[in-house]
Amino acid sequence: MSKITNLNDFLSKLEAIVNIDSGTVNTQGVTKVALTLQSFYKEAGFYTEIVDLGPSVGNGLFVTNCKDADSYDVLLVGHMDTVFKEGEALKRPFKVVGNKAFGPGVFDMKDGDLIILWALSKLDPEQLKKVKIAICFNPDEETGSTKSSAWIDDIAKKSRYALICEGQSELGAFTSQRKGISHIDIKLKGRGAHAGACPEKGRSAINAMANCIQRINALANENVTVNFGVIQGGLIANAIAEDCFARIDVRFWTSKQCDEFFAKFKKEFETPFGQDIKANYDVLLINPAMEEFEKTEELKQKIAAVAKKLSIKTTFVRSGAVSDGNHISQTKTPVLDGFGGIGGDAHTESEWLDLDTVETKANLLKEFFVSLI
Ligand SMILES: [Zn+2]
Repeated sequence: MSKITNLNDFLSKLEAIVNIDSGTVNTQGVTKVALTLQSFYKEAGFYTEIVDLGPSVGNGLFVTNCKDADSYDVLLVGHMDTVFKEGEALKRPFKVVGNKAFGPGVFDMKDGDLIILWALSKLDPEQLKKVKIAICFNPDEETGSTKSSAWIDDIAKKSRYALICEGQSELGAFTSQRKGISHIDIKLKGRGAHAGACPEKGRSAINAMANCIQRINALANENVTVNFGVIQGGLIANAIAEDCFARIDVRFWTSKQCDEFFAKFKKEFETPFGQDIKANYDVLLINPAMEEFEKTEELKQKIAAVAKKLSIKTTFVRSGAVSDGNHISQTKTPVLDGFGGIGGDAHTESEWLDLDTVETKANLLKEFFVSLI
């Protein structure tokens, strides 16, 4: 039996998957994590299925206690990829120091992938018969879940609730809203000229971009941020720059705010950024916001009630970073995030997981399952 019944079981399984390099582009590594998790869940008595999401990403893994169900009480989501390069696990393998664990992905979010198993292990067979649980482990969250979001959303649509098992920085602080993101490339074209001999013939794309930066930044407000993260333009100091390029990051709390921003953004492009300047833009990516709907309140109350039973004070926080909760939110299935372990410094070498609270988080999930019966 590969159930998790204590912290040592949890740690030995966590060690096994943390020590497999699984940066998103390392498709073999991610698939190896999927196969390892599959063996754990299968041995613990659950139905498992490897999911092929195309050649550019590793395999996904689907787990359930209720094969062939038309609907689920809850969908849990965990990702198996990390942001780290190949060789990272060899360089700094899993280790425990005092009450903390370290290693690539130890908190983001290989811990969450196993806290689910610990929580399921706490249910008795009778309870497992009365609740329908689906779990999606995806291979590409760190690059935006581009190949896995449709698969996850299909199952989310059949689920009453969805919980994302990313970590928490503080016990009880669940994420109920996440900003959406849009990336936009702006290309301005002017006219090149010698800066000394005939500057009057030139139309500087860089000067136009300076104007563009001011005008587009002015569209930001308390809910919408605009960041010109990349600027490239010109070739040499003594030539008027013909081209200038910018990539911007725009973030918003709701799709309404996104639509309002884009309406104003498009309008800005109707007025030239400089004389004879041609302006174009491409929208590269829009991650929808993770929004709260009416039914989210019901889920929040359920979580708060379960947490209270365990003497955990619940708060619901907003975050500027995205997770799989963002695209799930578009299915209108109520979704909350933060059901993994407590820790910090994700995406850095000092990433850590607090070992004192892992079982508490497993208990919380277990009690939530019981509340659905
Ligand atoms: Zn994560």
